[in-house]
Formats: sequence, structure tokens, C-alpha cells
Amino acid sequence: MQVPFVDLKAQYRTIRGEVQRAIDESLESMDLLLGPNVRGFEVEFAAYCGAQHAIGVANGTDALYLALRACGIGQGDEVITVSHSFIATAEAIVQLGAIPVYVDVDPETYTLDPSKLQAAIGPRARAIIPVHLYGQMADMDAIMPIARQHGLVVIEDACQAHGAQIHGRRAGSIGDAAAFSFYMGKNLGAYGDAGAVTTNSKAIAECVRVLRDHGSSRKYHHEEMGINSRLDELQAAVLRIKLRRLDEWNGQRQAHAEVYARLLEDVDVRLPVTRPGLTHVFHLYVVQTENRDEVRRALGDLGVASGVHYPIPIHRQTASQGVGRVAGSLRVTEMLSKRILSLPMYSELEQAQLSYVADHLRSVCNRKGLAVVS
Ligand SMILES: *Cc1c(COP(=O)(O)O)cnc(C)c1O
Repeated sequence: MQVPFVDLKAQYRTIRGEVQRAIDESLESMDLLLGPNVRGFEVEFAAYCGAQHAIGVANGTDALYLALRACGIGQGDEVITVSHSFIATAEAIVQLGAIPVYVDVDPETYTLDPSKLQAAIGPRARAIIPVHLYGQMADMDAIMPIARQHGLVVIEDACQAHGAQIHGRRAGSIGDAAAFSFYMGKNLGAYGDAGAVTTNSKAIAECVRVLRDHGSSRKYHHEEMGINSRLDELQAAVLRIKLRRLDEWNGQRQAHAEVYARLLEDVDVRLPVTRPGLTHVFHLYVVQTENRDEVRRALGDLGVASGVHYPIPIHRQTASQGVGRVAGSLRVTEMLSKRILSLPMYSELEQAQLSYVADHLRSVCNRKGLAVVS
């Protein structure tokens, strides 16, 4: 048996007719720039997140950049975030001439450790970007009061957390603004690049709307130097169809996670932990194991694909040399980068595949003579 890491074709087959009709309709109309699908998706996605506004943009990285910029973050400002994330979180900060400041993550949930914030807040601190990693929201209950106390803006990096909740409130509705990616493999994925900013602030929403379209709200009148980061009309058509199924798909991911947890109970790996009050949407199902690289290789030999998210923390990337600073120890971040392993996770996974992954992970972990990682 082969178990792929994700299977986007399996999902496509379930919505093929609907997608083809919507794309054909859109092409027949040739209303392809910020047209009815973008407008419709923005209303529907804002409502889904429980936010006042959603603005479609070209990708998740731009969503972070535009959200930060609309909140007034710029040259020399410090933005506190985590190193245990995808590089885009830092790229958006650096693009603005701002400075990423990295704090460690919580060893249970792998999201920003709020107890590390206070010490990281210097005189130039202006914003915090908590990353809702793997499908679980960061501890916003603890982060928001600290941000408010210090007058810091909070931008949620919700690129991996479409539909995730904290006490019934969805990702994208809590911070000053939030950034979403609809990159193909995300829980809500387009067929190409796409993203959105959500916010409850009319001023931030209007600012993002102008910035994404060359700083213009009226054709050939440019209020400021913006960028071209519009959400594509065809991608918006696809996203509207998929958004209607997102809760169902997230429910399937959650059910798969329960099956993994049950099947892997007796295996020597650390399973994902969901903090009380949170709803995890399992963008990724990440375990910790000794000898990670060998376990991964052995699984691959048995037909089980896996991933590592991420093998090199942002502050250790070549691109980060001389960029940003580390606040305190990143002990957990460093440890995780050596031990984490992402198992196959997507809605259409079948029970037999889940059992196959679990059985082989068990046999690989129990196998004697695995060389020790250096
Ligand atoms: C995917 C992702 C992004 C960037 O999204 P793109 O659409 O690829 O630009 C940013 N942050 C995190 C945590 C992500 O997973």
C-alpha cells in the first residue's frame, strides 16, 4: 500500500463538476478582476471566521505583509513571533523593514509560549504575530492581555488554522487582523496561490483593500504606493465551493486524528496535544520521535510518505543571518526541529491507510538497531 502525504486529486474528484461549472461561468462572464466571486468569497469567509471584514489577496505571505502594514508597522519596528514556523512569517516582517524577534514555543502545543513574551518586549516592540501552527490556535487568552498592556498590535498567522477555535471563537476573529493562506495543501486550498486578511476594524480593512490594488480605490488615483496582490477571480470561485465543505473536511481530519491517537497509544512517539477550550483542525498531524530521520526513511521504504514542518528553525536559516534577533533561549524550538514528524493527514484518508501508517510506525519504532541520531 502507498499512503501519500496529501492527495489533492481525491478531494478534487468530490467537487469536480461544481468546480468546472463555476470556472466556466466565470470565464464566460470575463469579469475576472475583483469580480463577483471575490466579493462573494470575502463576505462568506468573513462570516465563517466571525470577523467583520475579509479582504482577498494573492497569497498568505502578502496577507501578513498587508495586515502588518495596514496596522502601521514599518521600518525599525520590532515584531515578536516564533522561529518554529514557515519562513513566510518572518519574510513579511522583513519586507517592511521591521525586525523579527523570536521567542520560544510551548513544549505541549508548539505555539508561541506567552510566558516568554514579557522579556522579549523592548522599547521598539510594536506587534506580535502568534502562529496558529498545525491547526491549533496559539494561546490568545494569554497573548491578547499582554499585547494590550504594552500597546502592541496582534496579527494572527492563521495560515494553518482555517476553522480552528478558541472557546468557540474562530481563528481570524481575535487579533487586530489575521492572515490566511489558501495555498493548495492548506485546509482550505485554492488551485494556485491565494490568501486573505480578516479584521474587525473598518479602517484596517479599507487600508488593506487599497494597498492590495496598487494603493488605489478609484481607477488611476493612487493614494499611496501599494502592491499588486489581488485575489484571483477563478481562485475565489473555487474557494467559495470549498468553503461550504470546510467544516465537514475539518471534521474528517479530526476523526482521523482520533484514530491515529488510539492506534498509536502503545507506540513510543509523542502525540499532538490539544489544549482545553481549543478546537484543533489538524492541518498537520505531528508526532515527536527519537531518530526522526531514520524513522522517516524507514516509513518511506514501506510506502508511507511523511514530512518535517520544519527541519530548520527560521532563525537558523541562511536567509536569517544578520536579520532579526532571538529573545531568550529557543530550547524547545531547537529540540522540536530534530524530533518532529508529520504523518499523512487529509480528509479523504481511508481507515485502512490510517491503520497501515500506525502499524508501520509501530514496527519501525520497535525495530532494534536504529542508529542514534548524531
Ligand atoms: C503557508 C503559510 C504561510 C504563507 O502562505 P503562502 O500562501 O504560501 O504565501 C505563512 N505562514 C504559515 C504558518 C504558513 O503555513
